[in-house]
Amino acid sequence: MLATPCLACLVVPARQRGFCSDCEEDLPWQPPGCHRCGVALTGQWAGESTTSKAQHLLVPLCSRCHHQPLAFSRCHCTFAYEPPVSDMIRRFKDNAGFAEFRALCNCFTEHFLQFHDDTGQPLPELLLPVPLHASRLRARGFNQALLLAKRLSRRTGIPVLADSCWRQAGPPQRGLNAEDRLLNMQNVFRPLPRAALTSGRRLAIIDDVVTTTATTQAMASAMRSDAVTSIDVWALARSNHQPES
Ligand SMILES: [Zn+2]
Ligand SMILES: [Zn+2]
Repeated sequence: MLATPCLACLVVPARQRGFCSDCEEDLPWQPPGCHRCGVALTGQWAGESTTSKAQHLLVPLCSRCHHQPLAFSRCHCTFAYEPPVSDMIRRFKDNAGFAEFRALCNCFTEHFLQFHDDTGQPLPELLLPVPLHASRLRARGFNQALLLAKRLSRRTGIPVLADSCWRQAGPPQRGLNAEDRLLNMQNVFRPLPRAALTSGRRLAIIDDVVTTTATTQAMASAMRSDAVTSIDVWALARSNHQPES
């Protein structure tokens, strides 16, 4: 039987995750960044490339997280939202490139498991995909964050709570700076009554792409309750180019 070719170069036989070793190495892996929002850092903390326990104790923060608290503990991102990963995610949203998305999901799952292995941090008890609002869901036909959460769940056994909250259509975020995006997202998410019945205390919000964290912060705020002890965010990709303040 012929080996499946790598999804990126289409020539060299693929390894387990769908890419050949050279292409996998060349993917835009998100460098260790701000320990809150996950954005790549420049200067003092840039270039750190290990995920050892000791390094996690250093807690580097970006200037924004130094000055404002976030509604979640930490945002973990597997890739930078750059080509070819950004192209693969866009193709998937356009109803194509499912094999590529599945390969990226495999990398995301490995990252998730490796982090918990390295740090000893307990696994979350529930995975909460960021919902799409109804009209977007109708137009696309699927929620990519839900598919990502389901693939993570299949490997880890952590249950997915798909309908944790309801999302209404907010005003467009395009063109707004980070602070205005946050204001724009207030009250966009409403927890559904069913969510209050769950016993999950450590939650992980799952999203495909994080830009300024405005969306995930709004959802984390909506999901906070006395029964919740921690909320982390896990995203497939992170934009490191922040809108101007
Ligand atoms: Zn390749
Ligand atoms: Zn930050």
